[in-house]
Amino acid sequence: MSMCPLCNQLHTVTFHCPDCGNKGEDQGKLSDYFDDYSPYVDSDGVKLEDGYPEDFKESQCPHVYYCNICRQEIVVFISEWA
Ligand SMILES: [Zn+2]
Ligand SMILES: [Zn+2]
Repeated sequence: MSMCPLCNQLHTVTFHCPDCGNKGEDQGKLSDYFDDYSPYVDSDGVKLEDGYPEDFKESQCPHVYYCNICRQEIVVFISEWA
């Protein structure tokens, strides 16, 4: 069973903004992040709603990083550990 090292707090991943190179802040898992804004979508619904293929998500955990210079959110796919 694979698991995300970030969600399990085993590892931290530093992500730099592709536009300005600023260090992004991890806002957490994409589905958790969207749950705050989408109270009507359950955890299974999120997988389809966000537009990413189901099989791609099996080994990658999408996290939301935020660049406070560009003020943009960047989705980063974190490789899960087997
Ligand atoms: Zn994760
Ligand atoms: Zn930036």
